[in-house]
Amino acid sequence: MKNLLWVLVSLAVLLAIGSAEKIRYDNFKVFKIKTKNVEQRKWLEQLASDSENFNLWHSGKDEVHIMVNPQKLINLQNYTRSYSLPMEVMVSNVQSLIDGEQSTRSTDDDSSFGWTRYYPLSAIEAFLDDILTKYPSVTSAIDIGTSYEGRKIRGIKISYKEGNPGIFIESNIHAREWITSATATWLINELLTSTDEKVRNLAENHDWYIVPVLNVDGFAYTHTTDRMWRKTRQPVNFSSCIGADPNRNYDSHWMENNGASANPCSETYAGTSPFSEPEIKALADYVASIKDRLNIMLAFHSYSQVLLSPYGWTADLPSNFDDLMAVAKAYADAVESLPYGTVYTYGTSSGAMYFASGATNDWAYSEQDILLSFTIEFRDTGRYGFILPPIQILPHCEETMAGLLAFVEKADELGYLNVKYTF
Ligand SMILES: [Zn+2]
Repeated sequence: MKNLLWVLVSLAVLLAIGSAEKIRYDNFKVFKIKTKNVEQRKWLEQLASDSENFNLWHSGKDEVHIMVNPQKLINLQNYTRSYSLPMEVMVSNVQSLIDGEQSTRSTDDDSSFGWTRYYPLSAIEAFLDDILTKYPSVTSAIDIGTSYEGRKIRGIKISYKEGNPGIFIESNIHAREWITSATATWLINELLTSTDEKVRNLAENHDWYIVPVLNVDGFAYTHTTDRMWRKTRQPVNFSSCIGADPNRNYDSHWMENNGASANPCSETYAGTSPFSEPEIKALADYVASIKDRLNIMLAFHSYSQVLLSPYGWTADLPSNFDDLMAVAKAYADAVESLPYGTVYTYGTSSGAMYFASGATNDWAYSEQDILLSFTIEFRDTGRYGFILPPIQILPHCEETMAGLLAFVEKADELGYLNVKYTF
């Protein structure tokens, strides 16, 4: 009898662990707040480092989007009232957006992969395996390295012939930006299967290096536990807050000009040192090993609909600023010309957004001499934010392809696709 009781208790404990609770965001709201200066923005960021009750969704030049626990709404209202900052509700109940995002799942089984819903890491890995099996002569697996929690970081190379200029795509470095890996996997599929002449030219005359999910631990955590998680999952030994902002962790002007936070509870915590996050060190080592083959580096993010060139760490303009803006304009114009009429803006990270140091685009540009290097913030501008409804995945992918075609065409015209290495 005693033994039976022990078995029952053990079972109950196992079940509790197995079904680790998902964090719920019932009645959490997201507010759009207009700010007049850096101090006001910094104060809101400070408030958001109370990560139990607040969460920074977007922090731009003159606008901050902040998610609030309904019980702490008064704290935010007191502040915005005392500084007369205009504030409007952007999302009235975050949990209902999350529920809506996942409602398509029941009608769809996990064995087929597509772009009408979002998939967990295991399904994305199975998709990559399937692609590698189907297209063995033009694809190869890239082993980027291992994450803090021991997951493999995987990429894929698509190459139809030798001597092509190279395009690298880093995606889902921020865990909650699910549209990025959905777009990256769609792009892989399209480059291999499209019969459109322009897409075939894009696919076959460039070498593609694509990492659909870089922040594998964070991404897995968004599926199992917290949909709104952004950072890595490596603990910080002097804090109870977990993880660093991987896009502030590259070894390029790390922590300069307040471009990142030293507070482990901040969403832009830079980590304990440059490359303290194993995922970022692994990606950097891989990119450095093939940098002579890379002409373009793109980092997929959401949301805001903006293309961001270097620099993020300084307000100085890069030497080829005009060319960077020309390719960004080509992308934006192509996207806007589609029936959806989606508008992308562009500029330097520091000019169009705010100071951000240690980000991929600056590191690739300044330390690896990849002269066309961008962060692309995908749909939308705040209606759904990170929880972009699955029905928008395919239209968004179509926009990305139109943008890339125009971007690469302009890059070629400006002489950026000359092959950098010799055989
Ligand atoms: Zn991001």
